[in-house]
Amino acid sequence: MKRLLHRATVALLALASASVVRAQSSPYPTTDVQKLYEDLLGKINAIPLYDNHSHPGFADDSDVDAMAAPPDESSVLRLRDDNPEFVTAAKSLFGYPYDDFKPEHARWLADRKNAAKKSGSSAYFDQILDKLNVETCLANRAFMAPYLDSKRFHWVFFGDSFFYPFDNRDQTASTPDMGVYIPLQEKMLARYKRQMSVKALPADLAGYEAFVRTTMADNQKRGGVAMKYEAAYFRSLYFSDPPREKAEAIYASYHAGGVPSAEEYRIFQDYIFRVMVDQAGKLKLPLHFHTAVGIGDYFSLRQGHVLNLENVLRDPRYKNTTFVLVHGGWPYEKEAALLTAVKNVYLDTSFQSELLYPSQFKDVLKQLLTLFPDKMMYGSDAFPFNDALGAEESFWLAAHTTRTALAAALAELVGERAITQNKALELARLYLHDNAAKLYSSGNAGGTK
Ligand SMILES: [Zn+2]
Repeated sequence: MKRLLHRATVALLALASASVVRAQSSPYPTTDVQKLYEDLLGKINAIPLYDNHSHPGFADDSDVDAMAAPPDESSVLRLRDDNPEFVTAAKSLFGYPYDDFKPEHARWLADRKNAAKKSGSSAYFDQILDKLNVETCLANRAFMAPYLDSKRFHWVFFGDSFFYPFDNRDQTASTPDMGVYIPLQEKMLARYKRQMSVKALPADLAGYEAFVRTTMADNQKRGGVAMKYEAAYFRSLYFSDPPREKAEAIYASYHAGGVPSAEEYRIFQDYIFRVMVDQAGKLKLPLHFHTAVGIGDYFSLRQGHVLNLENVLRDPRYKNTTFVLVHGGWPYEKEAALLTAVKNVYLDTSFQSELLYPSQFKDVLKQLLTLFPDKMMYGSDAFPFNDALGAEESFWLAAHTTRTALAAALAELVGERAITQNKALELARLYLHDNAAKLYSSGNAGGTK
């Protein structure tokens, strides 16, 4: 009997191993990867995009961001004005008749955009999305603009200004870049105070906490679907967990004047950050974090490293708060991807899709797709560069890079028999659209769905 059973097991194993051989992955392609690529690219082009991160708007609209680029920032090669791909983008979107951006030629493009701006119509940016097959786009802006259609563009507002209620002269003087950034945070906080009819800072920490919580709730009612931190530009992404009494004493000392020490300011910020994380969980309002290298000579790669957030992301007190690692941590994209193992943590690949060429971005996507493909989202980080070269061309560059890199990554995985072609298309739909659509529909975001 035992022997019979054994014989049956051997037969079953033989059958099983035959099918295992068919599904066995290979380090080299076993089929024509170029053909797979073309086939997949055609199907990927038909999938509408859900853009998790962008700054749509015209070049002179300062609300496209809550901060501004520091003077003389170094630009990476691909994002310089002379990248010929921008000419291709302008031809594809507008039928641009020239082959370069010589000032007299660029004028043609700037005139066209000025005319669109003057018309004030929201149809203009809708048409850009239509041309690129983008269904929905999150607009990370200080405030929304009337020329953006709220059905297509959903607002992501900023949370950093709540970090800077006190006299900021030491912060502002700390580097030339902070000299640009911090006055803009002060301006943003002043706008929030006007919005909430708060004339002076509340007299105690409880009052300030209430101001922060109600502003977040009010922004959500105005259509906000997430709140974004650019904190990595201003301070470390490591947030300690100070007791409330410490923050209360610091608030009491400085709310009416006086300059806090760097250490006092940091402790206050770490505390108020945790109030915001708690409130975001209650409001079901996802929190977006800039996690990537940043512009300017004084951006700290070490302080901006995505792993600094690990203690917060893995804190069980915040399991009801959704966190989105915007720009996917690049160049620490593996660390960011591993953090998305946490149920309430997601990432997007915005900015990488403009900075990296398709051949480079393909390798990033190939890695991400095999880790947590249900937690990764498309993003552009489209931004108006100048009068001629706008968010429009930037949208084009990100969409082109992402679709081609994704088709190539999936073609390799199918060619190596890691996944089937059907599975490849399922993963493509998750990444390009469905993960984001699901994330923002399960939230409680106010009314502009
Ligand atoms: Zn951005």
